Amino acid sequence: MKKTPFITKEQAEEIAQNFPTPFHIYDEKGIRENARLVKKAFAWNKGFKEYFAVKATPNPFILKILQEEGCGVDCSSLTELELSDACGFSGSDIMFSSNVTPAADYELAYKLGAYINIDDITHIDYLEKLTGIPETICCRFNAGGNFTISTFVMDKPQDAKYGFTREQMFEGFRLLMQKGAKHFGIHAFLASNTVTNDYYPTLAKQMFQLAADLKKETGADIKFINLSGGVGVAYRPEQTPNDIIAIGEGVRRVFEEILVPAELGDVAIFTEMGRFMLAPYGALVTRVLHKKHIYKEYVGCDACAANLMRPAMYGAYHHITVLGKEDEPCTYKCDVTGGLCENNDKFAIDRMLPPVDIGDLIYIHDTGAHGFSMGYNYNGKLRSAELLLCEDGSVKMIRRAETPADYFATFDFCNILDKYLKP
Ligand SMILES: *Cc1c(COP(=O)(O)O)cnc(C)c1O
Repeated sequence: MKKTPFITKEQAEEIAQNFPTPFHIYDEKGIRENARLVKKAFAWNKGFKEYFAVKATPNPFILKILQEEGCGVDCSSLTELELSDACGFSGSDIMFSSNVTPAADYELAYKLGAYINIDDITHIDYLEKLTGIPETICCRFNAGGNFTISTFVMDKPQDAKYGFTREQMFEGFRLLMQKGAKHFGIHAFLASNTVTNDYYPTLAKQMFQLAADLKKETGADIKFINLSGGVGVAYRPEQTPNDIIAIGEGVRRVFEEILVPAELGDVAIFTEMGRFMLAPYGALVTRVLHKKHIYKEYVGCDACAANLMRPAMYGAYHHITVLGKEDEPCTYKCDVTGGLCENNDKFAIDRMLPPVDIGDLIYIHDTGAHGFSMGYNYNGKLRSAELLLCEDGSVKMIRRAETPADYFATFDFCNILDKYLKP
């Protein structure tokens, strides 16, 4: 499928007059429409709730939009909890799915009344000593082995650091019941960025079976099953995007096949999607600063891996549109790079693009999740602004760009940098 930017070259140039490149921009309309579709896909389940994975796009303006669409939040750290609290999420609006959890994080999650999803059986004692065991508690399951969909290996839970083994789930539930837990949730995240409508239904089948077994063997009252994240997006134009309506329907079928006969028909289905909720509705816009011709052709941009780490970190593909050249033939083969002193700082390698000129605006698609948020400051590069393309067509800054003073701010105990720290 052809990938189309949600802004035109003219819009981007106008925006760039007020907010210098590079910037991340998000499409409010796209975010809202997609969130409504997710809700519709699972409307058959009375207790359904999507808990947006805050780490994907930790911006309060984005969280507020999702809150208005009925979403909760999934947090994994102290600051994500604080951000969510500040946005007005509380109690059962918050899922706390952490691992290697510091005491202060559990304490705040408990205080906010969040659903605590514990990652390991040893955390039961840890949490009991810290805060006591909440009435409703969730355990994260790791199925081990490979996660396959009709012989295709999607991911390898056996190599993942998360969750309880199957045996530990039974032991953990019994232990938690002894310590006063009344209601239970089950969580599992077994494959990442899946581009198939079968992931959630396949995962749900395993989890529903486990829930039925846990109920039968321990008598635990299971209130919710959290399918977590992992629903992917079509980063490549040749991929077929997931159909969330078909996914919801697939989960409904296994719900009726397994949970209803096990007298678990009241169980609420939760999701914790990040990527699917936001990735396609964000883009990184950057300007071409230089071109160079050595053994290969290079197009150098004012953004770098510090603004979008996925290509450098995972070799991830992000589609690129040269704004204003959407209909020109892609006859120019180049690497699109940033300016880090690090050769993996490439947004694209051997990419076929229309002939690129210095000054062109490059639109990097699908950066709305795990984009800005994975940013870092290597080479003293600064984080960009985040902008919101509002439903009425106006553009709002929802995070300013970093300045050198931000970069130096953690030296606030010394006066060597005063010259640069003062405005
Ligand atoms: C990262 C994460 C998510 C979101 O994953 P996506 O791939 O963005 O959907 C959800 N839950 C947990 C526990 C995570 O760590």
